[in-house]
Amino acid sequence: MEAEARDQIKELAQWMEAVDKICFFGGAGVSTESGVPDFRSKDGLYNQHDVRFDRYQPEYLLSHSCLRDNPNVYFEFHRQKMDTREIEPNKAHRYLAKLEESGKLIGVVTQNIDGLHQKAGSKRVFEIHGSALRNYCMNCGKTYPSDYIFASQEAIPHCTCGGIIRPDITLYEEGLPEDAVAQAVNAIAKADMLIIGGTSLAVYPAASFINYFRGKYLVVINQSQLHVREAANTMIIRERIGEVFGELAKEQGMTL
Ligand SMILES: [Zn+2]
Repeated sequence: MEAEARDQIKELAQWMEAVDKICFFGGAGVSTESGVPDFRSKDGLYNQHDVRFDRYQPEYLLSHSCLRDNPNVYFEFHRQKMDTREIEPNKAHRYLAKLEESGKLIGVVTQNIDGLHQKAGSKRVFEIHGSALRNYCMNCGKTYPSDYIFASQEAIPHCTCGGIIRPDITLYEEGLPEDAVAQAVNAIAKADMLIIGGTSLAVYPAASFINYFRGKYLVVINQSQLHVREAANTMIIRERIGEVFGELAKEQGMTL
């Protein structure tokens, strides 16, 4: 880690002493450090060539059209690429869980669907793209256990009523879950510090959520270049989020 980043982390620890309502907004980068592939990076899902899926556009495999018109392909892709049951939370997830326990974190807003924040112990998690660990029947709405689709022997899993069981994730062509979005916006609007991590902010809807922030301190932790409007109390740390939170924990005398 660069010396500049270490100095930034010391300053961030001081900022955090002055606030009591921190909100975290996270993207794919939070989970890639646990080994969950994101969609667009070099090693991401879109670039893992797989003969079963190569003839489809990547967006199609994660779309409502695919689930509706081509469910065999949809569920095969889902089982191959979305099964994160064996994956463990990393330092970033564990740090945020501890921060919530300490009373300073009012919520985690996440674009990830892997449930790793909850696995680390976070309670107030607002999943704006849903969760692959929740499943429901598209006909009657009955819910099914978290590993139901991954464990099912049926190519297309069916409910006792005959309907198809799908994961509770937001696909292309579908709207975001209203409850989670309302809770996320509420947490961002109430926060006096917003920490954004593991997202380039380039992809909808990240940027539009940030517009609700009215607090004093904006912190962005992301390895790659991004564009945020810099204000008086804006800090941009260009390092991996797990490492930054690991250092920050040490600075704050916290064991992860
Ligand atoms: Zn049903």
